[in-house]
Amino acid sequence: MEPKKVIVLGASGSIGQSTIDIIRSFPGHFSLTGVSVHKNTRVLEALKTEFSFTRFAVTEPAAAEQYPHENRNLIDFIRNTPADIVINGIAGAAGLEASLAVIEKGLCLGLANKESIVMAGCLLQKEAEKHGAEIIPIDSEHSAVFQLIRAHGQAHIAKIILTASGGPFRTWSTAALKNVTLEDALKHPTWNMGAKITIDSASLANKALEVIEAAQLFSLPPDRIQVAVHPSSIVHSMVQLTGGEVYAQLSPPDMRNPIFSALTYPAEPPRYLEPLDFSRPLDLHFEPPRMDDFPLLGLGFLAAEKKAGYPIAFNAANEEAVAAFLNRRIQFLQLADITAAVMQHDWTAAPADFSQIMQIDVQARRLAQRYIQKE
Ligand code: MG
Repeated sequence: MEPKKVIVLGASGSIGQSTIDIIRSFPGHFSLTGVSVHKNTRVLEALKTEFSFTRFAVTEPAAAEQYPHENRNLIDFIRNTPADIVINGIAGAAGLEASLAVIEKGLCLGLANKESIVMAGCLLQKEAEKHGAEIIPIDSEHSAVFQLIRAHGQAHIAKIILTASGGPFRTWSTAALKNVTLEDALKHPTWNMGAKITIDSASLANKALEVIEAAQLFSLPPDRIQVAVHPSSIVHSMVQLTGGEVYAQLSPPDMRNPIFSALTYPAEPPRYLEPLDFSRPLDLHFEPPRMDDFPLLGLGFLAAEKKAGYPIAFNAANEEAVAAFLNRRIQFLQLADITAAVMQHDWTAAPADFSQIMQIDVQARRLAQRYIQKE
């Protein structure tokens, strides 16, 4: 069998590096045909030497100047590079345009970029259907649900249960949450991640985004989505069937698991990472999320229910609030206050295209900035 041709977007980030680690381990299964980086040309040069591809994109203008004789535009690069699957590990709204380009080409899209689905899920799925493209989630929870639904059949799913690590403040008292510092929030127990997603994990905004993502990806109303706090991150998510029984997907926490399933889809992946070791004690503790103390989670459910522009407004407001928190301009609890204030506005007009999505995004960010300045 010909090796699967893979493009990696955001190759210097953690998703990108994990993907390349897999490609490196299975040279007969996969070939890397090109990558994009934001500005890390050192990583790019090393990959060009190792995998000898000639197509690439550099998204930061100053870094792209190092390659004056080549067109380094991300969308052109996606359009002109041969691929069977594209792994999108680009952070933020820039990843959305890339997702759209992959789908328009009718390719398989391994999607780690949450913003793509949160902001434009409806549009992306419509386009995917039109072009015969497939969207394979790489978020560990959604990868688990995706595989569990495939195993049991969409018709038999009553509910999905997304697991959450609970973040570093899971056991902090309501009073103590008022005094959370930036340093407290940047500690995270299980996954190794960037600052934005680390804050989102601490505030449960990350889980809120995942609720919105799940509602969209699996066409489920939010009242059929539940969140269970599970600090050891061994159970990646669960489905409850119509008869009431619950099925779970378990493995040691490692992002390479969901990436590998996306890369090998629709085939069952060969043995790669160490499976769970049942010769030692395993902690499978679950508890309900503290909705009152972590209001961003409830706001995520609300956005998933109201749809239209609400998920975009939620995402934009939270992003602005997190940036303000990282710059020590607001307190931890104000992350939710600012997002809630922005969501009070009217976002009932559903966006019809990419430019309307970006308009709602800009509008929500402007409002968020106004509330941040008032704080
Ligand atoms: Mg996740």
